[in-house]
Amino acid sequence: MKQPLKSACPCGSELPYAECCAPLHDGAAAPDAAALMRSRYCAYVLAIEPYLLSTWHPSTRPTRIDPDGALAPQWLGLQVRRHVTTGAESAIVEFVARYRVGGRAQRLHEVSHFVHQAGRWYYVDGEFPAGTRKSSAAKSLAAKFPTGRAANTPAKSGQ
Ligand SMILES: [Zn+2]
Repeated sequence: MKQPLKSACPCGSELPYAECCAPLHDGAAAPDAAALMRSRYCAYVLAIEPYLLSTWHPSTRPTRIDPDGALAPQWLGLQVRRHVTTGAESAIVEFVARYRVGGRAQRLHEVSHFVHQAGRWYYVDGEFPAGTRKSSAAKSLAAKFPTGRAANTPAKSGQ
């Protein structure tokens, strides 16, 4: 994993990492779906693959993620736009994540679905809000770093 920043948390909360996403990365339960969303974005930035897998619901979880691989995007920032409780044990979080891949800046605008089970929030899948078009770069990013329903499609290994 990459060296965690000593200053502001990468999730954009403006809190120090140690007071924001670090406790979650160390095993504390996220208090709500938005906090889990932030901590997962933060884990992408810091390339903490075990956390990304352990917070992904088993029904949609990929076998592995390579957040620190050569093809991984460079994450530039997160904006949480909406956090809605949709049921006793479910919530959605809408966000825009900015990143750079192949030298080009891109945006990932997603509505993520979360469920709460046995005291923990889990990411289930995501959808792209109507009216937003995914660029080809975003599509290839989604294939390599599934954040939604493409999760069960194994990425070609190139072997
Ligand atoms: Zn954070």
